[in-house]
Amino acid sequence: MPKPVILSLDDDPSVLNSVERDLRARYGQDYRILPINEGQIALEYLNKMKQRNETVALFLVDQRMPEMSGTEFLAEAMKIYPQAKRVLLTAYADTQAAISSINNIGLDYYLMKPWHPPEERLYPILNELLDDWKVHVRLPYEGIRIAGTLWSLSSHQVKDFLTRHQIPYQWLDIEKDSEARSLVENVSAEPTKLPVIFFPDGKTLIQPDLKELADKVGLQTKAELPFYDIIVVGSGPAGLACAVYAGSEGYKCLVIERAAPGGQAGSSPKIENYLGFPSGISGDDLTRRAVSQAKRFGVEILSAQEAKQVEVKDAYRIVKLADGTELSCHALLIATGASFHTLKMPGADQLTGAGIYYGAAYTEAMNYKDNDVFVVGGANSAAQGALYLTRFARKVNVLIRGHEPTASKYLIDAMQENEKLELMLNTDLVELKGDTSLEQIVVKNTDTNETKTFDASALFVFIGVRPQSDLVLDLVMRSGKGYIYTGTDLIVDKNPPQGWTLDRLPFLLETSVPGIFAAGDVRYGTNHRVASAAGEGAIAFALMKEYLKAL
Ligand SMILES: Cc1cc2nc3c(=O)[nH]c(=O)nc-3n(C[C@H](O)[C@H](O)[C@H](O)COP(=O)(O)OP(=O)(O)OC[C@H]3O[C@@H](n4cnc5c(N)ncnc54)[C@H](O)[C@@H]3O)c2cc1C
Repeated sequence: MPKPVILSLDDDPSVLNSVERDLRARYGQDYRILPINEGQIALEYLNKMKQRNETVALFLVDQRMPEMSGTEFLAEAMKIYPQAKRVLLTAYADTQAAISSINNIGLDYYLMKPWHPPEERLYPILNELLDDWKVHVRLPYEGIRIAGTLWSLSSHQVKDFLTRHQIPYQWLDIEKDSEARSLVENVSAEPTKLPVIFFPDGKTLIQPDLKELADKVGLQTKAELPFYDIIVVGSGPAGLACAVYAGSEGYKCLVIERAAPGGQAGSSPKIENYLGFPSGISGDDLTRRAVSQAKRFGVEILSAQEAKQVEVKDAYRIVKLADGTELSCHALLIATGASFHTLKMPGADQLTGAGIYYGAAYTEAMNYKDNDVFVVGGANSAAQGALYLTRFARKVNVLIRGHEPTASKYLIDAMQENEKLELMLNTDLVELKGDTSLEQIVVKNTDTNETKTFDASALFVFIGVRPQSDLVLDLVMRSGKGYIYTGTDLIVDKNPPQGWTLDRLPFLLETSVPGIFAAGDVRYGTNHRVASAAGEGAIAFALMKEYLKAL
């Protein structure tokens, strides 16, 4: 944490030197003494300090300066650092100006020049003011600060990305916090372009893409090698389990992740049915453990890198990334999981990230403290999200199309016991209303066809799951819904799939292309559970090992 600043401002170099000497002698150990000789330069410097999140404890300012008087300077400086103490250095003739500024700019003290000896005429006054400042100051947050609005999709994506990487940040809502708004206006020519991210080194990023952000926060986005024994696409439980085993057995293994490690499981507030965790484990905790385990075994994990396409050239499986990079391997695991269906109804697209969130209860819940929010979906993920939201929201209404939730019994019981939660059964969402953010939702009772409109500040969507298999769209055999067929699903009348080139039949988790495997939620016939995905990831590795041995 940098030392708080005592800024002294005087256009007369000899006075400025003498103030600096006295301040440094007494306060130099605990404060940074900053002498400046011109008001405008000092204001520009203060704005830069604010971006770096430095703090000012006290201004000691001469009243008589040619370009800008001391009181004019303090009037501007207090807009940037309202908590700093303000002391004016005056000559006898300026006493009246000093007295009137006590009210106008909340002056804390005016000191008559000369102030010697400082032990009697300077330090006791400043000591008192600095003690008072220390008691009341709210010291600035030292880490990353994100300034944006709740209604900006990219602000939500940036928060979600950092949350999922477990990188702490402070959220500054520029609609509620005028200081945050002026911070944004100071660095951005287009203050509507949000979020603006302030880093402790004083640098800023304005509405960055995730790769730019990942690079800035020091995440790995580039592979160290052009070739790996094993490449895994997707870092949910399936991908990470495979990577842990591959790394532990000495294989060169790379994991490519479009967003942040953890996959769907990473967004779960509490996984209660995963073996070995009787009181549950949060998705981010499980992810953190798995990621450090994989890295410990030498696995590389790329973040914010999307695998766009896969090609086969002889014994090489080549993965093309969205940024044009090509990486090759001998064995490839597709562990890209599934994502929620997006809503198809009026208002859905323009309000996404502005009150409508897919899955992201974990990231956004705190922003809806004491509000009424809605959840759509009746399965486990919706139930977990809804229960988590009750910790913050005043009321959580869960819209379920069927006549009962499909979640596991322990979750249904927990929802029924929770007084803040209401299950709205036989209820279909039909419309979303709001100009810049979600304001109302319209629902229909599927029994009676009666429609009702509710005020809603947020809607969290947990419906359906869509396999993420487009990267192998034209390469491997998939079901009509896009799930990847593996093993026995490919074998018809004991015959391998068309185009199969090997003497043996496909292994259990091998796709219709030898050496390309699939595991977890993207695979046809899986059961959409953390343990199943992790188990399949582990089995996939064992089969890849067999495949590699035969090359
Ligand atoms: C909120 C929630 C709560 C849940 N709670 C439970 C629970 O309590 N118990 C339980 O057993 N199950 C639970 N589940 C289900 C469980 O999380 C999933 O079954 C499991 O995560 C599937 O793992 P996976 O590795 O197959 O895929 P995913 O977890 O979906 O991970 C796939 C990863 O691949 C990445 N990816 C996709 N496409 C690409 C690409 N082209 N390039 C690079 N990366 C890509 C994605 O970003 C993602 O990180 C929950 C799911 C959700 C959403």
